[in-house]
Amino acid sequence: MDLNFKGNKTTACLLLGAALVICAISGREFMANAGFDDLVPAAGFERKMLSDYFDGLRGSRMDTPVFVQNGAKSGGSVLILGGTHPNEPSGYVSATLFLENARVVKGRLFVIPFANASGFTNTLPQEASPSRIHITRSDGSARSFRYGSRDTSPIDMWPTPDIYIHKSSGQELAGNESKNLNRAYPGDPNGTPVERLAYGIMELLRGEKITLAFDLHEASPEYPVVEAIVAHERSMELAAATAMELIGQEIDMRLEPSPKNLHGLSHREWGDYTDTLPILMETANPSQGRLRGRTDETLALTGLDKAYAKAAALGRLFVPYGPDGKPLSQRVARHVASISAFLEMLSLFDEENGVTVENVPGYEDIIQKGVGSYLGGIGRSN
Ligand SMILES: [Zn+2]
Repeated sequence: MDLNFKGNKTTACLLLGAALVICAISGREFMANAGFDDLVPAAGFERKMLSDYFDGLRGSRMDTPVFVQNGAKSGGSVLILGGTHPNEPSGYVSATLFLENARVVKGRLFVIPFANASGFTNTLPQEASPSRIHITRSDGSARSFRYGSRDTSPIDMWPTPDIYIHKSSGQELAGNESKNLNRAYPGDPNGTPVERLAYGIMELLRGEKITLAFDLHEASPEYPVVEAIVAHERSMELAAATAMELIGQEIDMRLEPSPKNLHGLSHREWGDYTDTLPILMETANPSQGRLRGRTDETLALTGLDKAYAKAAALGRLFVPYGPDGKPLSQRVARHVASISAFLEMLSLFDEENGVTVENVPGYEDIIQKGVGSYLGGIGRSN
């Protein structure tokens, strides 16, 4: 017997109203992640889409902008890929820095800042990652970038298989790797969304005859391949000369050969399936690590974490870790200075296919002035 029916109805209406408000707020936040973060390309860049190279991506959430700038002198061509893993900000911020500052004198420069666009629309479950980071510019204003997920969004790829079988090699990996762009190369024009994305990038490498291509990453400081250059055997001589050049600048980048039996990765398949010289680079990002404490925007920007300081004191890390942590500016400076050194070496090794890019800040400039000084047009010399 219900003596208080009227009261129950009011409560039900209130709860329903509250649920609708929560849905509206979270739905708005969710939809706000559907587009791309703003970019301010330097003069001379033309904007294309990856679907211009592989039509199978057109109209899908896997399509992504590709920017190209041609120098006045003919030369080779270079691709800088950021955002293969959208939870590794130094990669896509470094690609953005090139896009927003570079002046190409010789050859062609291609930049894809947000390689896995779908991965930028979500965060990894149970990692408590921030959804955005804000980088302060020299005028005090901020540039905001999404902090996404290593994986393609479940909206685009669902369900996750128990085992991921890499098609061209038959290699078996854990099921979640099926959503990882850097296990999907050389891709498949009729495959899963991420296999089609990988195929699109391969088509760009082949179609534009890219001489040298970079895939920019970050990894946790307790991972052995960090502050490192990973080179395909065809890229190794160039990479070794670059690593020596960087030591001369007091920038230590470990040099690692791309394992021949590990398939699906850019540094392996770009080299095996195209004529490009592939390079993957890793900086150290404590906000991805297993030892970290609170995971928030501050950690992503500063890399300061007391558990990492303790691990460093116990000799458990593969990289130096001082009281300054691993700030984003330092991580970006490492990627940018390494790319600049590679371009210099490429011109020495193969003058005809050299690519010359001006107006890109050096390592010390970025550390001293902060990466924000080189975003959004601020800090340019012209
Ligand atoms: Zn990565």
